[in-house]
Amino acid sequence: MSAPTYDLGKLHGGLRLAAHKKQSTSEAIQVVPLPEQLILPITQHAGDAAQPIVDIGDRVLKGQLLADPDGLLGAGVHASSSGKIVAIEPWPVSRRYGDTAPCIVIECDGEDRAIDAAGIAADYEQLSPDQLLARILQGGIVGLGGAVFPTAQKLMQAITCELDYLILNGVECEPYISCDDMLMREHAGEIIGGAQILLRALALDVAYVVVESDKPEAIRRLGEVMGELGDERLILKQVPTIYPSGGEDQLVQLVTNREVPSGGLPTDVGCLVQNVGTAAAIHAWIRRNEPLVSRITTVTGDGIAKPMNVEARIGTTVADIVSFAGGYTEHAQQLIIGGPMTGKSVTTDKVPLVKATNCILVLSEAPAVGAELPCIRCGDCAAVCPIQLLPQQLFWYACADDEEKLRRYGLIDCIECGCCDLVCPSHIPLTADFRTAKARIMELADEKARAARARQRFEARNARLESEAHTRDAELSRQKESARKAGPDAIAEILKRKQEQSDED
Ligand code: SF4
Ligand code: SF4
Repeated sequence: MSAPTYDLGKLHGGLRLAAHKKQSTSEAIQVVPLPEQLILPITQHAGDAAQPIVDIGDRVLKGQLLADPDGLLGAGVHASSSGKIVAIEPWPVSRRYGDTAPCIVIECDGEDRAIDAAGIAADYEQLSPDQLLARILQGGIVGLGGAVFPTAQKLMQAITCELDYLILNGVECEPYISCDDMLMREHAGEIIGGAQILLRALALDVAYVVVESDKPEAIRRLGEVMGELGDERLILKQVPTIYPSGGEDQLVQLVTNREVPSGGLPTDVGCLVQNVGTAAAIHAWIRRNEPLVSRITTVTGDGIAKPMNVEARIGTTVADIVSFAGGYTEHAQQLIIGGPMTGKSVTTDKVPLVKATNCILVLSEAPAVGAELPCIRCGDCAAVCPIQLLPQQLFWYACADDEEKLRRYGLIDCIECGCCDLVCPSHIPLTADFRTAKARIMELADEKARAARARQRFEARNARLESEAHTRDAELSRQKESARKAGPDAIAEILKRKQEQSDED
């Protein structure tokens, strides 16, 4: 077994939180049976919605592409099982902004027939890095750690930078969530296989596989697999259990002691971070031709009868998954998609499991929050902020809707970790305010970008029309000159033609 190494950078702030993970990790991952219906949102990723390429009534096979990103920033959506498309319509979803989204609904036929797996690239080493990237693009793979950024596009951006390290993120620091822990325990080989594919696609020589210290079984399994392979490019690292050490920038700081600049990306300091689940999904797609049609998710909390980790098809409703986990306890009160710090409360369990769903958390009671009081400027929020922001200042500017100051004080770098909320003695919902302010700023930026694109199109059109008019005038002058030499009838004909063209314009 390869022993984990520890030489670490320093993480600013953060909190040691109660883990609440034991109840969902006491037994192996269970497979949820195929449901009668699968609900597949066409936007399960950061970027533009994929465009449906199927119609109601079409019969589809498992793994078939249903919605295409159409060359835009996005990821394809594949059928999670075989059956018939019965609707393409808005459905409740668990998105941070907006409660419904267009979904493709499959009525499953129960046969679970898959598309022909011909063309499997069993030996990925025969593919060039470019071919591998193009292939990953077709698999509908997105970052499974929560950001759901389309993986192929993230890799394509990364290869334009000077990279030193691939970092596989197995930290999973948010309480209650244990799906990555279980994946590492039970599918370590696939994660490491995915890391090797990524190293080839990125033409890199070093991959750090990073796991928190509270996951000894995962560390043991990964170490065994790496030891058997003897691939010296892979290095296992253990980091302390502190929330939010699994944030991309925080992980880069911990592992390499390099600081990602404000508004920048890990690639700015030579690092590319991928979640361990994403690596396993890449392995499944490249080695077995299986697009991203299922995932492991944690279903847990005091409101769930039998907390566990399950593997479920993308599109299975939360209601079906909860029912598989023994149903709700009589005290279940709050349903959260995601963890308690960064998840979203939803009011219906009709929402489907999507690529981003790492946890279904049902709490028997909503955490008691005291009445909001004025800020007493204690500074506790700044002490725990992992980005070294000044949350009390940001709060002030968010209340005043002062976009310029919010930008200057780094709101855009806030990772919405919720640490400041937890320590605030005045019970100010800082993170919720920051989330709203960020959404507003991003919306304004989108509007500005849209307006700039429209202006560019308008100016380009005017320039084209001007150039066409100029060419026409030059041609008419030339014809007039030859007509002048030819006589008065030819001049009359040219003037008539010019009048006709002006009428058309
Ligand atoms: S922790 Fe709360 S009360 Fe203290 S400075 Fe921050 S916002 Fe103000
Ligand atoms: S939510 Fe934002 S401001 Fe608050 S601690 Fe986290 S990163 Fe800092």
